[in-house]
Amino acid sequence: MNRPVRIETPSREGKAPPQVRAGGIDDSPFDVEKVRRDFPLLKSLMNGKPLVYLDSAASAQKPSCVLEALNVFYTGCYSNIHRGVYHLSAAATQAYEESRRKAARLIHARSEREIIFVRGATEAINLVAFSWGDRNVSEGDEILVSEMEHHSNIVPWQFLCERKGARLRVIPIDDRGELILEEYERLLGPKTKIVAVTHQSNSLGTVNPVSKIVDMAHRQGVPVLLDGAQAIPHHRLDVQQLDCDFYAFSAHKMYGPTGIGVLYGREKLLEEMPPWQGGGDMIRTVTFDKTTYAELPHKFEAGTPNIAGGVGFGTTIDYLVGLDLDKVAAYERELLRYALATLSEIPQIRFIGTARERCSVISFELEGVHPHDVGTILDGEGVAIRTGHHCTQPVMDHFGVPATARASLACYNTKEDINRLAGAIRKALEVFR
Ligand SMILES: *Cc1c(COP(=O)(O)O)cnc(C)c1O
Repeated sequence: MNRPVRIETPSREGKAPPQVRAGGIDDSPFDVEKVRRDFPLLKSLMNGKPLVYLDSAASAQKPSCVLEALNVFYTGCYSNIHRGVYHLSAAATQAYEESRRKAARLIHARSEREIIFVRGATEAINLVAFSWGDRNVSEGDEILVSEMEHHSNIVPWQFLCERKGARLRVIPIDDRGELILEEYERLLGPKTKIVAVTHQSNSLGTVNPVSKIVDMAHRQGVPVLLDGAQAIPHHRLDVQQLDCDFYAFSAHKMYGPTGIGVLYGREKLLEEMPPWQGGGDMIRTVTFDKTTYAELPHKFEAGTPNIAGGVGFGTTIDYLVGLDLDKVAAYERELLRYALATLSEIPQIRFIGTARERCSVISFELEGVHPHDVGTILDGEGVAIRTGHHCTQPVMDHFGVPATARASLACYNTKEDINRLAGAIRKALEVFR
């Protein structure tokens, strides 16, 4: 009974890749060709040409081990969690909760009680805006976001402001696409109740000085939520060291399943927050007179969650840890440098966002070609990029453009991908000459 069942997922070579060798030094080089073999979709053709996938900032492709974990779970271990006494339910619960522990370890949370499973970054931010906001924000208070936020980190705060008569204040960016910290300092005041900024911009690639942002807010006793949707697959993260109060991210942008993500919250804050959705799984006892709530993290997890997604997320984390995020970061840094150098040779290109600290994202305009036409012509060449406002309309307004073309890099992209991108851009320029 309740024999621990582990959802083993056949990882590459049948065992977990060694992260650190004896002696603590892993000096093996990052092998991008090996990584590419883990992602079956990258082998496909698009419009008859080998696919070049440069839209990972919208959603990343999935490695076979994650797909297999979903399959193994659905075919061999599937049942609802947290309620059944039978073996299958216990096994499913165990696999799901193991993923929570892995998520806690990945970001170095103090405990898995601080890991709330949600649909993704959007839901995580909404949870904080509703639950924390309900308790802590009142008329005349101010909420600080930045000009480079994704709509997911703007609209939930606007809802809150409308409900409470509070005011949304905006930290401006400069023409490089960097936050103006002097303005931030000036805006932080006695009325500020929370600061909500992105760790890394999805439309500009700017990596914000989050440690400094947190310190400055904490000096005034103001908590900070970081939107980590872009940053999480590219950097090693330590929420204790960073000392942020909330951190939001989605599994699908880190090579995991859609429909699952994490709200990390400082336990003390989460304890004080009321539940935001009512239903099964989040209660301790229910009578018509009074309902008491479950402990963290379940207090915030009403209803049947994305069980398979949660299990697959655990495998995703193993995969990412196996790649070694420091190596991934170094590889991607070099790839971005190469991409910027290569694309700079095209005189008609204008980069939108030239922050000194940036990662993985290249937004650009092509003289004489509408971004959507760029996207269409590149598609014909087998190159998938994104065009549009990238859910950051205030950024588009800042730079006076309706849309940009955006190529975004991930651990499986290569210099050859960049060369194909540059070739396709030249083709677009010819078509529109
Ligand atoms: C994608 C993204 C979000 C929203 O994530 P979802 O997975 O759609 O909930 C929020 N912020 C940033 C910076 C993003 O890139």
